[in-house]
Amino acid sequence: MLQQSLTALRDDLERVVGKDYVLSTPVQLALYECDAETMDVARPDMVVLPLTTEQVSRVVKLANKYNIPFTARGAATGLSGGATTIYGGLSIVLTRMTRILEICPKDMVARVEAGVTNLAVSHAAAPFDLYFAPDPSSQSASTIGGNLAENSGGAHTLKYGMTIHHVLSATVVLPNGDVTTFGGRAKDKLSLDLLGVFVGSEGTIGIATEATVRLLQRSRAVETMLAYFPEVSAGGQAVSKIVAEGVVPAAMEMIDKLTLNAVEDYLQMGLNRDAGALLIVELDGPPESIKVQREIVEECVNKNGAISLSWAKDADERAKIWKARKTSFGALGRIAPNGYVLDGVIPRSKLKEAIETIDLIGKKHDLLIANVYHAGDGNLHPCLLYHKDNEEEVRRVMLAGREILEMCVALGGTLSGEHGIGIEKVHEMPIAFSEMELTSMGWVKQAFDDKGISNPGKIIPQLKSCGESGMRPLLRHKLLGGC
Ligand SMILES: Cc1cc2nc3c(=O)[nH]c(=O)nc-3n(C[C@H](O)[C@H](O)[C@H](O)COP(=O)(O)OP(=O)(O)OC[C@H]3O[C@@H](n4cnc5c(N)ncnc54)[C@H](O)[C@@H]3O)c2cc1C
Repeated sequence: MLQQSLTALRDDLERVVGKDYVLSTPVQLALYECDAETMDVARPDMVVLPLTTEQVSRVVKLANKYNIPFTARGAATGLSGGATTIYGGLSIVLTRMTRILEICPKDMVARVEAGVTNLAVSHAAAPFDLYFAPDPSSQSASTIGGNLAENSGGAHTLKYGMTIHHVLSATVVLPNGDVTTFGGRAKDKLSLDLLGVFVGSEGTIGIATEATVRLLQRSRAVETMLAYFPEVSAGGQAVSKIVAEGVVPAAMEMIDKLTLNAVEDYLQMGLNRDAGALLIVELDGPPESIKVQREIVEECVNKNGAISLSWAKDADERAKIWKARKTSFGALGRIAPNGYVLDGVIPRSKLKEAIETIDLIGKKHDLLIANVYHAGDGNLHPCLLYHKDNEEEVRRVMLAGREILEMCVALGGTLSGEHGIGIEKVHEMPIAFSEMELTSMGWVKQAFDDKGISNPGKIIPQLKSCGESGMRPLLRHKLLGGC
């Protein structure tokens, strides 16, 4: 953008949100150049932090006036580069919009602004014994707007579903700046499901400023088991058997030996370092039903060669077990400074095959790969460890990542279970989707965003080259081509 237009834009933005909430110095912009997927880096031309829906609407209208792209940004915990401004333009940051507008225990709903963190919703609902079920491991930081945009899941997705299953409505600023509401407070399955289209659209068809979400009653009883297996495949077989027996645990999560040892180095909580895999199974519901399920789970785990199993004795022990799982990726930082977390999905029955192939791909590219799994729903999070200053290693990481995703699709799975496509997997979309499906996605985007300024370049592969389209040069293009 020309300096003259930038100055005029800044003046206009400052009139909307105030001087303090428009950032444009190189140091300020550097803080907004990527999300938690740090391989794709591109600075916005300007950052703006609105406080109300009306301000977001006016900011988006200014983006239209100056014909520049804009990208919504929550806490930037995204793992697919979704909030990275690959075409520059405006980064519209929602983190000042943190009001909890209503908790209604009677209807079991909460109405919150988009910048409220996931965990803050559950904290606000806790006095009524209610909570917000989607629980990404990033829940203390990630925002409701980000959760909607990515259709986030978490450890308890197995039983309770993704964000889409817990959202009733969203107030959305459309790409032309108009404000609308998708969905409603009561269940509506008769109309065209615009809320369903919006959730998971990664900011490509508008910006959520407010959401009404469903709250659930806390379970009367919860039991959490930790079991060790000699190898991941044995744990995977136990998981399949538990589901085949008709038990739907609230969560079934697994980490491999490398991750387990990194966690133990970090937390020193007495984990069995020699085990090949650690499996967490959580059951919840009425105490009488848990008793029966517990017996079935124990039988499945023991019959599939568990080294040992134990149940948390109280809430403190349960919290410790979950801390081990939820700090897994952070703990891997002790092994290498950077980790590239993948998000492929496979049919649960293919876990053994997938693990073996990931191991081979790691060996082929001379990379250390740690594995964390939402084992219950076949969602794999291989974490490829690397050093970002070693470009040759980064290239191998990108190649290995692509091969792992290809394998997931070949096994009957797909590219993403919960982290979204963003820029990270956009080139892999044709592996999983037909030309007609991609064209149809383009039509949906076009219907909402005919100028193509709402988070451009995400999800749907571009036909134009970077030079033609104005996309900023990214490291992945330099190392792999593809633009
Ligand atoms: C350690 C760690 C653990 C994680 N664990 C999980 C997990 O268990 N499950 C899971 O699903 N994800 C997980 N994630 C990924 C990430 O936390 C989620 O995708 C989360 O929902 C992103 O929220 P955010 O506020 O950080 O959004 P951002 O990263 O800021 O944005 C993500 C995307 O949403 C868009 N967006 C943001 N706000 C809005 C809005 N208001 N309206 C429209 N679009 C918007 C952005 O443009 C971008 O495309 C994890 C990430 C980390 C770093």
